[in-house]
Amino acid sequence: MVKKLYGLIETGGTKFVLAIASSHKKILAEKHIPTISPEETLEQSIAWMASQSARIGRIDAIGISSFGPIQVDKTSPDWGNMLETPKPGWGGARIVEPFRKAFSVPIGLDTDVNAAAMAEGRWGAGRNQRTVVYITVGTGIGGGAVIEGRALHGLSHPEMGHMRVTRHPEDRDFPGVCPFHRDCLEGLAAGPAIIARWGANLSNLDENHISHDIISFYVAQMCTTLQSVMEPGRIILGGGVMQTPCIIERIRSWASKLQNDYFQGKPDQVIVSPDLKPYSGVLGALVLAEDALHLCHRN
Ligand code: ZN
Repeated sequence: MVKKLYGLIETGGTKFVLAIASSHKKILAEKHIPTISPEETLEQSIAWMASQSARIGRIDAIGISSFGPIQVDKTSPDWGNMLETPKPGWGGARIVEPFRKAFSVPIGLDTDVNAAAMAEGRWGAGRNQRTVVYITVGTGIGGGAVIEGRALHGLSHPEMGHMRVTRHPEDRDFPGVCPFHRDCLEGLAAGPAIIARWGANLSNLDENHISHDIISFYVAQMCTTLQSVMEPGRIILGGGVMQTPCIIERIRSWASKLQNDYFQGKPDQVIVSPDLKPYSGVLGALVLAEDALHLCHRN
């Protein structure tokens, strides 16, 4: 069998990660570029991919794992376009179209978190599980789910970061920073909410500081809600805030208290760190590229 080559793009609010891979164990080239305007960033991405393709070989398919909100419904005329986003200049930006024009190959697209859930489910911390959820807690909070190999979509992609949570008893006064809902989960527990309250990242605050307990409590509520909705085999927690030492243990401990041993999945086994980091997102793009090529051959 001839080895296939895949062009991979993980788009983020601060950087784009680009790669060429022939399998999840073989990333042949990689480049990070800062996210500036859509025109400049996409042009640089395409130029790099074209130069690598000239050096390594023809790309067979492309996978794009993107920050959101983005139109992921393939039947929609604006498939592959950013939707309204607070990120200046990016609302309505066409993400897929420039790659399609430049390479004329099948393209797979999904959110970064759905893609990461697919990759972790296939090769990482979610292997052999029927249902896997991947959550990122960083500048924002986002979640994706894969059920029996397929990413979960509704009218749009899930918006798990905007679920409601009960207030921590020592966090009643902070109004929250979500521009849409104020004190939803993201408005209380993402990086900007931590900095707004305590002036530092969680990992720079003393481990005995109340912030650790408050943030763990909120993330544990999210895990508990997700367990009540879909009993996932794994809830994989990635993102900058989850780099804080001991945070995952605190989250498991709160989740155990909240759940009172009720669910099939026990927090100690279900709530885990990503296996593939820092490649969960870019390998997610590989899953999307492989699936897009497979679909194209089947049709
Ligand atoms: Zn919100």
